[in-house]
Amino acid sequence: MAKHKTHYEECDVLVVGGGMAGTGATFEARHWGRDLKIVCVEKANIDRSGAVAQGLYAINCYMGMQWNENQPEDHVRYARNDLMGMVREDLGYDMARHVDSTVHMFDEWGLPMMKNEKTGRYLREGKWQIMIHGESYKPIVAEAAKKSADKIYNRIMITHLLMDEAKENRIGGAVGFNMRTGDFHVFRAKTVIVAAGGASHIFKPRAVGEGMGRTWYAPWSNGSAYALPIAAGAKMTQMENRIVLCRFKDGYGPVGAYFLHLKTYTQNANGENYEKKWYDQTKELVGEYIDHHPTPTCLRNHAFIQEVAAGGGPIHMVTKEAFQDPHLETVGWENFLGMTVGQAVVWASQNIDPKHTNPELTTSEPYVMGSHATCSGAWVSGPEDLSPPEYFWGYNRMLTIDGLFGAGDTVGGSAHKFSSGSFTEGRLAAKAAVKYIEDKKAEGINVSDNQCENFKSAVYKPLDTFTVAQNEITGGTVSPSYISPIQGLQRLQKIMDEYVGGITSNYMTNGNMLKRALELLDWLQEDLEKVGAEDYHQLMRAWELKHRALTSQCVTEHTLFREETRWPGYYYRGDHMKLDDENWHCLTVSRRDPKTGKFTMEKVPVYHIVDENEKKKAS
Ligand SMILES: Cc1cc2nc3c(=O)[nH]c(=O)nc-3n(C[C@H](O)[C@H](O)[C@H](O)COP(=O)(O)OP(=O)(O)OC[C@H]3O[C@@H](n4cnc5c(N)ncnc54)[C@H](O)[C@@H]3O)c2cc1C
Repeated sequence: MAKHKTHYEECDVLVVGGGMAGTGATFEARHWGRDLKIVCVEKANIDRSGAVAQGLYAINCYMGMQWNENQPEDHVRYARNDLMGMVREDLGYDMARHVDSTVHMFDEWGLPMMKNEKTGRYLREGKWQIMIHGESYKPIVAEAAKKSADKIYNRIMITHLLMDEAKENRIGGAVGFNMRTGDFHVFRAKTVIVAAGGASHIFKPRAVGEGMGRTWYAPWSNGSAYALPIAAGAKMTQMENRIVLCRFKDGYGPVGAYFLHLKTYTQNANGENYEKKWYDQTKELVGEYIDHHPTPTCLRNHAFIQEVAAGGGPIHMVTKEAFQDPHLETVGWENFLGMTVGQAVVWASQNIDPKHTNPELTTSEPYVMGSHATCSGAWVSGPEDLSPPEYFWGYNRMLTIDGLFGAGDTVGGSAHKFSSGSFTEGRLAAKAAVKYIEDKKAEGINVSDNQCENFKSAVYKPLDTFTVAQNEITGGTVSPSYISPIQGLQRLQKIMDEYVGGITSNYMTNGNMLKRALELLDWLQEDLEKVGAEDYHQLMRAWELKHRALTSQCVTEHTLFREETRWPGYYYRGDHMKLDDENWHCLTVSRRDPKTGKFTMEKVPVYHIVDENEKKKAS
């Protein structure tokens, strides 16, 4: 262990993760904190990291307030409807009122925006989406962060948050290791903004064996955004609200541009519109929510899943009509080439030309994230001017640990942020973090060397475990004394898949299965003390796995707590198959006690702020 050099860095604002939210936070921290020391630490390389690494073809959250296309209230209503009522409207409104200014900066920075030739406005793909030539989206926002930060550290994975020893429940920084040099890094910081993305690969993916690694959400999103605050004792919300996506089969290619711009549509194997077949059955489960417009994402999934289970599959996207138009055909292909090139390759390998063959769709394995049609994540304070007392404790986007902030996938309750909204939320969090420092809330922080050394021993333990236990291998790679990260990952995925509502059980779970999952996850945690890593890359895999496992425990606790099926199509509680507004029209909040490892759960009211305000105005 002594061979791993330790580097110390002291800073004011530490941004963990340089994806969309992290670049936004780094940029904005400099705007408000001219003289502050701002450091961003990224697991990969900030130029091509995070969910936007490959580029995007659309910015999915733009109001267009300058042209009165949409107002923030409209977006709140939209997100509320899509999430079956369960969102933090203060957070959603706050993001929506600022997101246009973010997009206008992207435009100024050189992101090629498509324009509507007739109106001169940004070209709309849908009500909220605008189209971009976005292959270089990530390098463009990374440049803004690089120009703003005192220092960007690439290739450092943050493994733990540091806590202040002078004042209870206050942040003190973070530690991690460089996966190229193996060096240990201590960042003592006055504020920390966690912006480490969502979680893929906690449920067994559809693509296994030869396709392993192929997932819809970025395969490198490993739940650090959740595990870091959970381990430190921060409260989390809506962690049961995992998302299942309807995507092109095997390549997980996105369908948004196809539905919205190309106006393609779906049908079952017999060429029928199957969605309406499931109307009555869905109404039985969720009541009037099925009559809402647009149909909530989970309910559209529900019809898909039921149709396939009833023998109506495969489900196809009807592309043959749209692709006869050469312009739309080009748009269809470009959509993949700038964002999910793998889908084009999969189609080529399967002899699918969408001009002549309608490609298959499928529903994905579940993912945990906070920025899409889902809102799992940390329980944070909202903005002063909007949030009711239960949602406000001083600083916007601050978690329940003083000085610890979050943005993007990290933050729960604020769905439909996407790339632009995540960057915007990073900006909001950074502004508040700077204010926290200016208000002298971060004085006298004490993080002892002892705390750092303890984490250092824990971080490198998998290397030591491997070094000793490899001598016991008698054949292949199986050791009686350690498990490898991939073995641990597959064990985790199997538990989550079979017991917590993954693809194997057709997204079905129940109280008994969840309790069993919690037992199995506890035992997995025990065995993860014996995970072995043969090199620094495997050490990263080991820590990614540990973060995924902790995230999974939290997801399972939440899923057990909410005794209803709020989002059929995302998962089903077989023992509580109906949506239950009487008992569960509320947000779920958890906290894991760092000393005991036990979770406690509570219900928190969901406030419908937008329409409440309108009611007040009217009266
Ligand atoms: C396939 C796909 C298609 C999408 N399509 C669109 C679209 O068309 N339009 C749109 O607007 N949005 C789209 N999105 C959503 C958008 O990408 C996300 O909303 C956004 O990237 C979330 O921002 P974030 O900063 O929270 O996470 P990310 O952008 O993923 O950033 C997280 C960062 O944290 C780093 N990190 C993780 N763990 C650690 C650690 N322990 N230590 C240090 N660093 C760490 C990661 O490397 C990464 O750089 C899409 C996403 C995907 C995956």
